[in-house]
Parts: sequence; structure tokens; C-alpha cells
Amino acid sequence: MDAALIDPFQRAISYLRVSVTDRCDFRCLYCMSENMTFLPKAELLTLEELDRLCSTFIGMGVQKLRITGGEPLVRRGIMGFFRNVSRHLGSGLEELTLTTNGSQLARYAAELADCGVRRINVSLDTLDAAKFQKITRWGRLGQVLEGIDAAKAAGIRVKINTVALKGFNEDELFPLIDWCAREGHDLTFIEVMPMGEMEDRVGQFWSLMDLRHRIGTRYAMADLSERTGGPARYVRLETGQKIGFITPLSHNFCESCNRVRVTCTGELFMCLGQEDRADLREVMRNGNDDALRAAIREAIARKPKGHDFDYSRREVAGQVSRHMSHTGG
Ligand code: SAM
Ligand code: SF4
Repeated sequence: MDAALIDPFQRAISYLRVSVTDRCDFRCLYCMSENMTFLPKAELLTLEELDRLCSTFIGMGVQKLRITGGEPLVRRGIMGFFRNVSRHLGSGLEELTLTTNGSQLARYAAELADCGVRRINVSLDTLDAAKFQKITRWGRLGQVLEGIDAAKAAGIRVKINTVALKGFNEDELFPLIDWCAREGHDLTFIEVMPMGEMEDRVGQFWSLMDLRHRIGTRYAMADLSERTGGPARYVRLETGQKIGFITPLSHNFCESCNRVRVTCTGELFMCLGQEDRADLREVMRNGNDDALRAAIREAIARKPKGHDFDYSRREVAGQVSRHMSHTGG
């Protein structure tokens, strides 16, 4: 194996998130516009290029790989990609996982489990079918719940990711918590981030400090020291249930950041909240693996200390222009 990837702030890069498509079968209000223009196929990394890229990062010390999108499971041939990448499990790669909207899970859960996927994140903001359709525009709740059941039946642990949205799912705080407890799913709340189009984004912002406070009105809870090198912080309720909070806005979480992201076009983003990037597709299409490794090292040497998102002045500062579906969240 090559020398580990260490950034200028002595953070080891051990976690890679890869977006395999910008397309999606949903159009969540906070993520995409209704009429998205998607990239032409030639712009996308092929599945072979994605495999080469992931394998190179694993050779440089990446231990955890999260596949995301857009919706990763709508990319044609994606199960072949999972099958191939799973060869690294146990020899460098410790975890292969994905973030999905769940719509295709009923079809793929068993095969994912067979490829060594042990845990997945499923995004779900509401348990109300009408509200689900409103927030996802094109999604059907029943299909997602079936998918989640299929994952559970296949022995995959499910973590539900819920974007906290003011006036939208505030009233479902306890129903969501109780449903996850009954089903045995972990649950993490996410603050809405200033990505893409910003109409009314500030109005949608529901601070997780407030959300946490409300949980506290019903349950005693204790902070957990557990850290994943990412933005999530966890509490344990008196019931034993664990709940996570991803608060990119009210707290800065960058000091322990261990991750980088690659888009489906091969752009390496060293920070979700900054525009700086490196074009790895160009290097891959014109260079050998040594050139690719050199380009990755050169980019990691530019990884910034942190992002600049800030809602505190009631206007959105530090906004980046790309959509979440572009960088994969
Ligand atoms: N389609 C998959 C899904 O929905 O899980 C994977 C990609 S999606 C971009 C990854 C995550 O980003 C989802 O949990 C979604 O809720 C979240 N997300 C999208 N836009 C967001 C925003 N503006 N603020 C916070 N989270 C966002
Ligand atoms: Fe699609 Fe996920 Fe974005 Fe929703 S959040 S539009 S499911 S990529």
C-alpha cells in the first residue's frame, strides 16, 4: 500500500464518498429543481473508471467507501460495480456502504448484502404518504418502506436520515423516533444546508438545537462520545435508542474531518462547503495510475481547514452554487 493520505492539518483521509450518478427518480424540494438537466453520459465516469478510482483510493488508505448520488441505485449496471469493489473488503477496505432514497431497495437489498454491504443510510423525512410525495415530488412512501423492510430482511442495518424542515416534519419528531425504535433503525437528523437553489431555504431551517431540546422534553438523554470523523454527534435516550445530529450550520465539525468526495464526473472535492476541486477524470483518461495517485496527493495537500456556511445573520453566507445531488451529500 502507498503512504497514507494526510492533509495539511494532519487529518488522515480514510473515508471516500463517491457519487455514481447525478440522476434520481425523486426530485426532493431541498435537493433538485423539478426540471433538472442531467449530464450527458460521456461526462460521467464509466463504471470501470469508478472502480479504478475507488481501488486507487483504497490503495492509499481509504477504509470506508460510501456510494451515493443522485440516486446510486438508478445507475445502470451499479450492482456489477458493487460486486467488483467488494473484492477489497477485508484487504484495505473495511466498510462498503451507500446512501439511498430506498426506492430500489426491494429489488437490490439481497444482492447488496451478498456484496458485503452491512449498513446503509436511507433518507426519509416523513411517514405520511401525502407529505412524502410533496417533499420528494415523485416518490412513493410505500415503495420506500418496502425497500427498507427488504434491507432489514437481508440482514442490512438501516440508518434513517431525516432532514429537519421547519413547518414540515416538526410535528413528526416523536412519530419518527418511535417508528425507528420499533423497527430497530438508527436515526439521524440533518440540518438543511444552503445548496443549489435557495428559495425559502432560510425559512425551512429548523435548528437541531431546538429539535434536540424538544426531544429532551420527553426523554432524558446523554451525549455519546462516539465520533465517526464526520459531522454527526450522538445521544442515547433513556430508552436506549441512539439518535444522531448532523449540524453543519449551528456547529462547526471540520476539525476532525476524515473524508473527501468524488462526483460522478470525477471531480474530487476536498470539502463539501468549498468550491476548490481537482479534475481526476482528465488525469484518469490521459494518465497512468502513478499520475492519478500524484493528482490525488496534490489535491489532498490543498484540503481546506473547514467550510464557511453560516445562517447566523439570517441571510445565507458561504453558499456554494452546486446542488447536493452533484456532490452526493
Ligand atoms: N438519493 C440518495 C438519498 O436521498 O439518500 C443519496 C443522495 S442525497 C443528495 C444524500 C443526502 O443528502 C440525503 O439524505 C438528502 O436528504 C440530503 N440532502 C439533499 N439536499 C440537502 C440539503 N439541501 N440539505 C441537507 N441535506 C440535503
Ligand atoms: Fe434524489 Fe436523494 Fe436528492 Fe432526493 S435527496 S432528489 S432522493 S438525490
